[in-house]
Amino acid sequence: MRTGADYLASLKDERCIYIDGERVADVTSSSAFRNVAASMAGLFDFSGDPGNRELMTYETSEGGRANRIWQLPTTLAELQQRRKALEAWAGLHAGFMGRAPDHVASCVSGMVMGLDVFEAYDHARASALAEYYRFARDRDLYLTYVIINPQADRSKEAGQQADPFLTAGIVDRDASGITVRGAKMLATGGVIADEVFVSCIQPLAPGEERYALSFAVPMNARGLTMLSRKSYERAAGSVFDNPLSSRYDENDSVLYFEDVHVPWERVFVHGDVAMCQKQFHATPCHVYQNYQAMVRLSVKLRFLVGLGHRIAEINGVTAFPQVREILGQLAAEAAMVDALVTAIEVKGSMAGGYFVPDRHTLYTAQVLTQQLYPKVLNTLRELAGGGMIMLPSSAADFADPAIAALIDRTQRSPSSASRDRVKFYKLAWDAVGSEFGSRHHQYEMFYAGATFVTKGHSFRTYDWSAADRLVQTMLNSYQLDIAERPAAVA
Ligand SMILES: Cc1cc2nc3c(=O)[nH]c(=O)nc-3n(C[C@H](O)[C@H](O)[C@H](O)COP(=O)(O)OP(=O)(O)OC[C@H]3O[C@@H](n4cnc5c(N)ncnc54)[C@H](O)[C@@H]3O)c2cc1C
Repeated sequence: MRTGADYLASLKDERCIYIDGERVADVTSSSAFRNVAASMAGLFDFSGDPGNRELMTYETSEGGRANRIWQLPTTLAELQQRRKALEAWAGLHAGFMGRAPDHVASCVSGMVMGLDVFEAYDHARASALAEYYRFARDRDLYLTYVIINPQADRSKEAGQQADPFLTAGIVDRDASGITVRGAKMLATGGVIADEVFVSCIQPLAPGEERYALSFAVPMNARGLTMLSRKSYERAAGSVFDNPLSSRYDENDSVLYFEDVHVPWERVFVHGDVAMCQKQFHATPCHVYQNYQAMVRLSVKLRFLVGLGHRIAEINGVTAFPQVREILGQLAAEAAMVDALVTAIEVKGSMAGGYFVPDRHTLYTAQVLTQQLYPKVLNTLRELAGGGMIMLPSSAADFADPAIAALIDRTQRSPSSASRDRVKFYKLAWDAVGSEFGSRHHQYEMFYAGATFVTKGHSFRTYDWSAADRLVQTMLNSYQLDIAERPAAVA
């Protein structure tokens, strides 16, 4: 199994990242990324720990063990065993690393479970995908993805934008592969990933074939530039002041492909708008990637509910009936998401020899949690009042004994010592209100697409006929017949 040290060593590969006006020389030592890289290394150390062998690894069909994130479940029991591995990893970061390696591993594994769809499209592309899956699995690679075209004018197709090369598209093909030019949003984890899967999940119109692509390249591919957003890790005062931002800011970046050459053995779709959609929706890909996201989110909500409970204890309000009501609501909301994860699993079914989570229950969970996450954050704000703000400016304030004594006197709680109160509320603010917390608010609303997209998936996959049958049965049970009018309305 890959160790954290192996992973960190592999990041020193001259990838091209720009942040704050400078090119990053080494992500593992950059003040913008080094802590999150170390956190990611911690995931690899955990899965490679011999004590976690059964929990985190499985025997592949070719022999040898691999990280469970690559497992292709053939039964419900295997799916649930795999989920325990995803949960254990999410528990290491309380669900705050949305694009940890298990997300895109789930996406690529889902594509491979639907290899027949690729075979029907093009045998060579199917072979490329199957080989790439084995390549990534056997090296336990950390993949991220960019599957959305950059925002510019959303009322226009990619090819109708003022710059037709804004969106990444194929500009050349030769015997060795394709050449790609243009941009993609938004590579979460891109700065610390090994490779990126690039495609287009947005429906493309006929004529937009150039943008219908699907391939994978290493983050140091020649011509690939990452334009990083602000680093919350770099802006964090200290781990004590920003315990989440300082360690779990996986970052997001715009990727620009300046005539990047992709060899055929890494190209899975090219120039086919229908196949670009099918790779996600006619295979278990979309379901598997978003099922992973829901498992992660269930862990995160448990953490947030824990914050709510602790806020009430620290403020001495747990016994108030109104506060118990708020906590009861929060608990019910977290438990609902746990129950949805279970339902997604047990309502799953076999497809092509694999056990696939239930599509519509997954989309139900997506639609509801996009609305739930902001509501939970708001509830935590409501519980906390000024507690998350009534805090010393930074850990440095404790260095002066006189100021530290004043802090100790003014930070009071019936359940915790002054410094523990400060420690807790800084954590709560980082999760709820800091720039990092705010980015998570946006992430949970959009990682799976805007709400019109997720509701569209729910609309498409719901069993309307069962609902319509009930309506029709009721309609069939009475007629417009004056003689049958009930006496009460006669
Ligand atoms: C924090 C964060 C991390 C992300 N990480 C990744 C990543 O790792 N990989 C990746 O590929 N993507 C990533 N994304 C991108 C994400 O997938 C998109 O944000 C999402 O798909 C929505 O697309 P958009 O942002 O272009 O919003 P848009 O599609 O432009 O939608 C924004 C709003 O505009 C309106 N709107 C736009 N178009 C329509 C329409 N056709 N009909 C009706 N209303 C419309 C709606 O009100 C909608 O809510 C990330 C996004 C965020 C915020």
